[in-house]
Amino acid sequence: MGRRVLGMLLVVGLLSGCVDGRPSAEESAEAHATTTGDTAPPTVAPLPPTSVPPPPVTAASPATTSPTTTTTATPPEPATLVFWGGPVLTIEAGRVAEAIAVRGDLIVAVGEAEEILRFVGPETTVVDLDGAALMPGIVDPHGHWISDRHLAGIDDPVAAALNAARHGVTTMYDLFVKAEDLAELIALDEAGGLPVRVTVYFPVNYLTRFYGIWFSQYTPGEMLSPHVRVGGAKLFVDPTDPDRMLLSNAHADDQDFYGEAAISGVDLTDLVTRLDDAGRQVVIHTGGDAAHDMVLDAFAAALDGGPNDLRHRIEHVAVVRDDQIDRMAELGILASIQTSWFSSDWIGHPQWGSFEAELGQARINWAGRWNDLLEGGVTVIGGTDAPWTPPVSIGGWAEAVTRVGASGRDPAGWMLDQRIPIEEALRITTASAAYGGFEEEIKGTLAAGKLADLIVLSADPLAIPPDELIDLRVLVTIVGGEAVYCAEEARCP
Ligand SMILES: [Zn+2]
Repeated sequence: MGRRVLGMLLVVGLLSGCVDGRPSAEESAEAHATTTGDTAPPTVAPLPPTSVPPPPVTAASPATTSPTTTTTATPPEPATLVFWGGPVLTIEAGRVAEAIAVRGDLIVAVGEAEEILRFVGPETTVVDLDGAALMPGIVDPHGHWISDRHLAGIDDPVAAALNAARHGVTTMYDLFVKAEDLAELIALDEAGGLPVRVTVYFPVNYLTRFYGIWFSQYTPGEMLSPHVRVGGAKLFVDPTDPDRMLLSNAHADDQDFYGEAAISGVDLTDLVTRLDDAGRQVVIHTGGDAAHDMVLDAFAAALDGGPNDLRHRIEHVAVVRDDQIDRMAELGILASIQTSWFSSDWIGHPQWGSFEAELGQARINWAGRWNDLLEGGVTVIGGTDAPWTPPVSIGGWAEAVTRVGASGRDPAGWMLDQRIPIEEALRITTASAAYGGFEEEIKGTLAAGKLADLIVLSADPLAIPPDELIDLRVLVTIVGGEAVYCAEEARCP
């Protein structure tokens, strides 16, 4: 299906006016400046038809211009897939390239159009993006797209995975995979039915249910099937629901109520230490500030003054104090946030309740501190928690940047204080998210040698006004060099 879909996208590009496929001098000079800082205008080769070999590189061509590609006299081994004609957002230090070449399931080169078009051979599928943007697929470090698919009204696991792909997700870290879920995933993948990559995290407890450490036979990082990989262990301390989360002082609307804890501090520290000793990453669902004290104490005990090499994480980081942000930074604990949370849709959320009512005015600015975490030097990774909380926009980027939700309502002041720049929103849902699961060498940015997990977006999120991010759409999702989802407007069959 992949080739056919991409071929159609090329046709769309050609029909909509990009007749010879050649960017204007102004566009190419601008793109050139962003990639190399060189002031000389590049020599732009015309886009060759798909079935014709690439043109020879002229002597006037600049020498090496990109950190990931080199220009040599002999044409390189042809790519299977080349994209050009739109911004290629590498997520590497803000670098925007002009084109990308893929061979099989890997990226072989990212750089200027002229260099990349040298990878075009007789069999290469060449896609003119026609101004659409291309970037790494979203790595969702905290979701339940497949295991809790019933919440989205989906029965079929393949449909659930495709739903994630439709949202631009090429890798999901499923944070609650029980033994039966794992068996289903592996069977599905081995039958060729899993279109996206899944890293599985095994639950140790949830509310009053205790599963224990039942997953000793699985080694972190181990591939259980082509797309299914072993992640870490998931613990649960308190609910994130505002009327139940564990606070260090009583809830504002009930002076006798501090919230619920699913586990004691002693037991938590014991479990975290055992898992850390066994070399397992520990990720802990944490809501209120008192729960964060318990979790940070447990991590501090397990690390015993050493670095957080296992990249232990706090999931949600819903309500935290200043001193806790400092302590997270000191210990090197990752903050796994949900970019769609605490948008204006969350003011008196019909399902979750009111954070204002439970925290009161004195503590409300402890909620959803995405910008404070970033500015406090904490490593932040961004996910969805879908389908529990599906993002309104692609990647939850619009909510992270504007704090405006689907309702269009104005955000509260404490929400506006925590808006983050779009560059950060993109980074935490790609490169940083991959780091959060020990996959930064193969995912999260566009560079030669990384997996060809890519998305094509209807517009460039770095170029459009923040209030248009909510309308951004995924046109094509590619996993390992193959299209697994294509939107109707890209004329998908
Ligand atoms: Zn979750």
